[in-house]
Amino acid sequence: MFKVMVMSEIAKNIKAVRIVCDAAPQPVELVAVSKRQSQEKILAALEAGQRVFGENKVQEAYEHWQTIKDNGAYPDLMLHLIGPLQTNKAKDAIALFDVIETVDREKLARSLAKEMKKQGRHLPCYIQVNTGEEVQKAGIFPDDLTDFYVFCQDECGLNIVGLMCIPPVDEPAAMHFGLLSNLASNLGLQKLSMGMSGDYEIAIELGATNVRVGSGIFGVRDSL
Ligand SMILES: *Cc1c(COP(=O)(O)O)cnc(C)c1O
Repeated sequence: MFKVMVMSEIAKNIKAVRIVCDAAPQPVELVAVSKRQSQEKILAALEAGQRVFGENKVQEAYEHWQTIKDNGAYPDLMLHLIGPLQTNKAKDAIALFDVIETVDREKLARSLAKEMKKQGRHLPCYIQVNTGEEVQKAGIFPDDLTDFYVFCQDECGLNIVGLMCIPPVDEPAAMHFGLLSNLASNLGLQKLSMGMSGDYEIAIELGATNVRVGSGIFGVRDSL
């Protein structure tokens, strides 16, 4: 009984977000953020047809996804890394993930490029931009973005497809989404990963091509 409830609830939530995504003039991909959610809920989302998922920790992503990937039942599964990455985990990240959304410093860009070459897996990447210039938060400051983009693209040979941001909690998200959108169009980048459960509708209005929705689909997460 519990299982049936969880499944229908998650399917309903996914459908509701999809309706908003599909109503946008631009194509919008829903990245279902499965961090700190149960395996049962993840399976429910797969059964509901969801194929693109986001995780913020490499180790946990393996726990959630290794078996599912290995059994081959979902060949169109796409895993996005949406959390900070340590360079010593670049190897494992590239082996598991399909998209890296959090390229945020030169050392990491170099490690990713080296490891992608080694594994022959040239994954699409996003640069994470610290639009609020918060010291405690990861990401490249807007003023440093052009140089960093050139470094990633030309020096490292990474395939940078877009920009990603997480706005400060205490400021209107729209301002940050607008800024990210301007920065991307200045660089001629097509993809914009912005918007979470609380603000994905605004993000889509401001041009998001990727929304990362967790609790809005799966419910409240387990605490750390
Ligand atoms: C956890 C997380 C999300 C999802 O947040 P919700 O508010 O649960 O939708 C989105 N993006 C990033 C980078 C996250 O870490």
